[in-house]
Formats: sequence, C-alpha cells, structure tokens
Amino acid sequence: MMDDARMITPDLRMDDEQDNRLRPRTLADYFGQTKIKESLSVYMQAAVERNEPLDHILLYGPPGLGKTTLANIVASEMGHNFRITSGPAIERPADLVSILSNLNPGDVLFIDEIHRLSHAVEEILYPAMEDFALDIIMGKGAMAHSMRIKLPQFTLIGATTRAGMLTSPLRDRFLISFRLELYTPEELSVIVMRSARILGVKCTQEGALEIAARSRGTPRIANRMIKRVRDYAQVKGTGGIDLAIAEEALNMLEVDRLGLDKTDRTMLRTMMEKFGGGPVGLDTLAAITGEDAATIEDVYEPYLLQLGYIMRTPRGRVCTPLAYEHMGIRMPVQKESAQTKMDI
Ligand code: ADP
Repeated sequence: MMDDARMITPDLRMDDEQDNRLRPRTLADYFGQTKIKESLSVYMQAAVERNEPLDHILLYGPPGLGKTTLANIVASEMGHNFRITSGPAIERPADLVSILSNLNPGDVLFIDEIHRLSHAVEEILYPAMEDFALDIIMGKGAMAHSMRIKLPQFTLIGATTRAGMLTSPLRDRFLISFRLELYTPEELSVIVMRSARILGVKCTQEGALEIAARSRGTPRIANRMIKRVRDYAQVKGTGGIDLAIAEEALNMLEVDRLGLDKTDRTMLRTMMEKFGGGPVGLDTLAAITGEDAATIEDVYEPYLLQLGYIMRTPRGRVCTPLAYEHMGIRMPVQKESAQTKMDI
C-alpha cells in the first residue's frame, strides 16, 4: 500500500481534498492536454447545437492528471449537474439502479475507477448507456419477466488508470475516449504559477519551474508541493518562493531534481545492483519496494518510462543508460553492448 505521508503519491490525500480552490472550473483555466480540450470543445458545441446529450466519454491515464476535474468542467460547460461516484462505491446492482433513476436530463454521471465495477453492476450499465433504459427482472423462476424503464438522457464519464482492465462490452459503449498524458515541466510550471496566485504566495518563474520539474508530470503533486514549499518559504525565508527556496524545500522532502523519491531510487538501485539492470518482473519490483504491483504500474512506471529510465520488455523491466547516469552507477559492460544492439 502507498504510504500516506509520501510526497509524490498522485493518489488523493486528505490535504488535497480540502483544496478545491486550486481546481480549475472552466476549460480556459484547465491548462495542458490541448488536443483533448480541442476535441472536447467541438463535441460539446455539436451536442449543444443538436440539443442532445454529449456521448459517453472514457478518460484514462495515471492518477492526479485531471480526469475528475475535466469531467466536472464538461458538466458545468454544458450547464448540467455533475454526479460523482466510483466503481468500488457501487457494490450492488441496486446501488447503480438508484443512482441512475435519480438522474435529471443532461446530467453528467462520473464513475471513477470504472474498471472496478462488478460484472452484475456492469450489466445494468449496458442498456443504460446504449438506450437510456433500465432492464429490471421482476419475479422469480418461471414467473420471472423483465421490465424496461426509461431513463433521462445523460452522459456517462468513466475514468480509469487502466483502460486495459475494462471489459470490451463496456469499452465499446464509450463513443469517445481520451488518454491523458503526463504534463511537461513547462506546462506544470504554468499550473504552479496559477496555484501560487490563488494561494496568495509570490513565486518566481524559476521557482515554479523547479517545483514543476520535480512533480512527475502530475498537477496533483505540483499543487501539493507548492504548499509545502510555501511553508518552508514562510519559516526559513521571507515568504516568497524562488529557485533557492524551492530547491531547499524539496531537497528536505527527499524528492530529487527530477521528482524521484526514495522508492524510485530504491527500485532503480536494486535493479542495477542486484539484477544487473534487468529484466526484472513486476512482482519482483513490488517485493523490492514494498508497494503492490498495481501501484508500480499506475504510479511509478509511467513517469520512469516517460523519463526514459526504464523500458518494458516481454521478460520484464530494464534500466536504461540514462537511469544509470542519473543514479551515478556504472553500467555493466555487457549491458552497454546489449543496449547498443537494441538501439540498432
Ligand atoms: P484525477 O481525477 O485524474 O486523479 P484530478 O482531476 O482529481 O485528477 O486532479 C487533481 C488536482 O490537480 C485537481 O484538484 C486540480 O487542482 C489539479 N489539476 C488537474 N489538472 C489540472 C489542469 N489541467 N490545470 C490545473 N490544475 C489541474
């Protein structure tokens, strides 16, 4: 399990939830993910002009990138209510029936972690998504018959960190699907500057970029870091955030200049020192770090892959020369030639 005190976890923590102030409310305020925003604006405008609900949307990608925020914005830009729930929260089919039958026309229903819906619950969702209808079975045995109840037209937005775990009947019922990408440090620095403005703390461009560079491409982490750096600036400095203050504060949190924390470094070092740089299987990585395999896949890997520090091969994960360089560990000679061969 993730350690709740960890700085870089993109999973939701208590202090994030209290921070609704930082959550963008309009598409204009939602920075980055340009392609998704462009497509969404077109689809939303088209739906409004036809006076129809927006097609169901699947948002997937690592946690903390803005899936919930985007779904919320879609509802408000369309001028409709936003209803939020999650896969694990909908335990029984009756729970979903109750949610669906309480919807108003045009509502946006957001189901987070939609890959965790049970099969029985999913079955309810199919006709609801396709025909805006509920098929209810009445009676038992030979007397059983099904009854169809009409639902108001609504838009389902499903979010998942793992699109691969969605069943294909469910995936096929989303006519629109978007993959959210990790943000670049430049994009994140704009988000950091915006958050600094909202929190009322002075921040230089360099300070913002330093926080951004250490936030693993994830706005949720960036927003969390700026608050800790703000505390540091208040106590150890004069209240404002500049490059030096950001560096000192983040070093104190043991987040390195690329956003790697102790767990990343333990994982990379063990792979290099004990396994010759790999390939190392997912379960072994989980054992090394004490995290579960899903967390490694959802949280650690996307960023290490983006940095080009690890590669996925059919036999497991392999450290790249870049990772050796970052860790200051010499790469074994035969590894180097294996790598060169792969590059060719
Ligand atoms: P997810 O649902 O993907 O886990 P959230 O939508 O909850 O992520 O986003 C986490 C936090 O990051 C939000 O509270 C918001 O403050 C911030 N955030 C996410 N995306 C953006 C963005 N594009 N611009 C500005 N802030 C963002």
